[in-house]
Amino acid sequence: MRSATATHCPYCALQCGLRLHVGERVQVEGDASFPVNRGALCVKGWTSAELLRHPERLLSPLVRDARGELAPATWDQALDRIAEGIRATQASHGRDAVGVFGSGSLTNEKVYALGKLARAVLRTSSIDYNGRYCMSSAATASTRALGLDRGLPFPTEDLAEADAVLLVGSNVAETMPPLMQYIEKMRARGGALLVVDPRRTVTAAGAAVHLAASPGTDTVVANGLLHVIVRDGLVDEAYVRDRTEGFESVRALVAGYWPERVERISGVPQADLERAARLLGRARRAFVLTGRGPEQQAQGVANTLAFIDLALALGLVGRRGSGYGCVTGQGNGQGGREHGQKADQLPGYRRIDDPAARAHVASVWGMDPEALPGPGRSAYEMLAAMGLPGGVRALLVFGSNVVVSSPDASTIEARLKALDLLVVSDFFLSETAALAHVVLPSAQFAEEDGTMTNLEGRVVRRRRAVEPPPEVRTDLAILRALAARLGASRFFPSDDAHDVFDELRRATAGAPADYSGITYERIDREGGVFWPCPSEDHPGTPRLFAERFPTPSGRARFFAVPHSVPAEEPDADYPMVLTTGRVLAQYQSGTQTRRVAALAKLAPEPVVELHPTVARRFALSSGDAVSVVTRRGRATFVVRVTSSVRQDVLFVSFHWGGDRSANRLTNAALDPSSRMPEFKVCAARLEVTRHAAGAP
Ligand code: SF4
Repeated sequence: MRSATATHCPYCALQCGLRLHVGERVQVEGDASFPVNRGALCVKGWTSAELLRHPERLLSPLVRDARGELAPATWDQALDRIAEGIRATQASHGRDAVGVFGSGSLTNEKVYALGKLARAVLRTSSIDYNGRYCMSSAATASTRALGLDRGLPFPTEDLAEADAVLLVGSNVAETMPPLMQYIEKMRARGGALLVVDPRRTVTAAGAAVHLAASPGTDTVVANGLLHVIVRDGLVDEAYVRDRTEGFESVRALVAGYWPERVERISGVPQADLERAARLLGRARRAFVLTGRGPEQQAQGVANTLAFIDLALALGLVGRRGSGYGCVTGQGNGQGGREHGQKADQLPGYRRIDDPAARAHVASVWGMDPEALPGPGRSAYEMLAAMGLPGGVRALLVFGSNVVVSSPDASTIEARLKALDLLVVSDFFLSETAALAHVVLPSAQFAEEDGTMTNLEGRVVRRRRAVEPPPEVRTDLAILRALAARLGASRFFPSDDAHDVFDELRRATAGAPADYSGITYERIDREGGVFWPCPSEDHPGTPRLFAERFPTPSGRARFFAVPHSVPAEEPDADYPMVLTTGRVLAQYQSGTQTRRVAALAKLAPEPVVELHPTVARRFALSSGDAVSVVTRRGRATFVVRVTSSVRQDVLFVSFHWGGDRSANRLTNAALDPSSRMPEFKVCAARLEVTRHAAGAP
């Protein structure tokens, strides 16, 4: 057995350190020296190497032939087909008719290269990525309130120092188990975990107070908590005076969210609200953390701002052992939203409509800033317009399974089928790849080099432990070859990750997410470097906002956020509220985890969780199958009867496609500023399709 290669888990944003031992099989060991997970891994991390030699792995390009079948092809054939399609589409329909769709699971180098391919080579404004479905509301809210978005502006280990942690809409005990070690340490010191979640999740079950708010009422709960904190004199008035602006309008607003009213709207008992507010407000040090629950709504930005208000009123942000953060989901959900694959963004969190930003990036790329396109459409808007007049007609997808992960997925599937050219780069024939004209086999995590930025803003190294199969290429090699086919080799002088990262460093110099002082060598030496890091002798920035906020005034900003109802509310036809989420043994669209035998055994199929009173009404038992129906469509799930879900709520997991796809049901109503779809709330009804025992 060779010596181990230190790298990171391919899945979530915790980016747990692991060591790969390469022998006949690749074996995984938790990396005890990495300070985030300290050797702990969840079942997904332990089994992550199983996909490297999986029998369904794509081992050569596939091109759709004259019979309409995907058939093995050479790289030359595949790249020629793509280049011809791009040229023909842009000649007939303009540059923006070619779109690019990226991912929060790609390395920073790939994200950067993808954005550069779109802006410098294709010169299209049509680029966005699946992180729009994940992080965009928290990112928008943090930027507005705090002047900068970095998921956790502090190291995870700080959580252990708190006296209270308020976790809103995030089930970390199941989705990020190694993070719980810090919560456990906090609790062992006498600290309190407070959870807002419509379900009594594993995380909520261990909380000192669980506020089981109805989906879509997060702002009511946040404002209600702040009401009690103001009423009981727990506001940090000195902090509010010295470090913030705009509190008076919030103080006036929350006066109207007295506990009785909060209970009436959200279902959270007054006593629980008051107890949570007091535990949070009296804690010497505390954190407020949001997850996808409040964020993935058509009012996701407002919801997040309301919880940031709470953290600011308590004087938490920028104080050691305290703060506000969002629990980022995807593996490189942080770096993925920094380096230029967003519709409105250039590398380093630079805005694409900022002339100075355009000039800087254009100079690094060796092109005229005037030639850079402007902002494009957000993910769902770009996908929903595919094949329609003025919409994208050719789409390149890297590392994303949009048929499963998009809201109102049947509409997106129909629009994908209307494309003149769909190209998908992936490891497996995902539901999206199965619709493509060209499929490109790409390298997996253990077969490539690069960097990832975890949920704390810590930039870490992904290291190659094994060679990819002979006809499999890294996405960097694919992008470089594609640029060459399009006559733009000069923009892609190298497909070596180290070289691309050095260019990224130059492109981000002076930007909000400044990586210019981070080198591969430093990451190797220091085990990770926190951005911003503006020079090689800068120590990096584990904790943000200690002195000032990067806003024009240097102060954090309060936003008064009144409650507004979800885009779709229950009615006579659709009397239940549907909400969606993840389970421990599956990850995102399931392209990878559904193929891992141990994970498929743990979570073989999607379930709908419903309350015993609902089960009685429909004469259902666990194991029965039902259809869940919304205005978008229907999908079939196995029933799990549980009192951990509210009586008015149905919960389904979203890791499956086809007629078991939760996202065939979800609502594509978008947040007005982040353009986040309303994944977490829509109106639904149950239809009994069959019973396990064979009864009608
Ligand atoms: Fe991987 Fe996340 Fe599990 Fe850690 S918690 S092993 S990063 S999936």
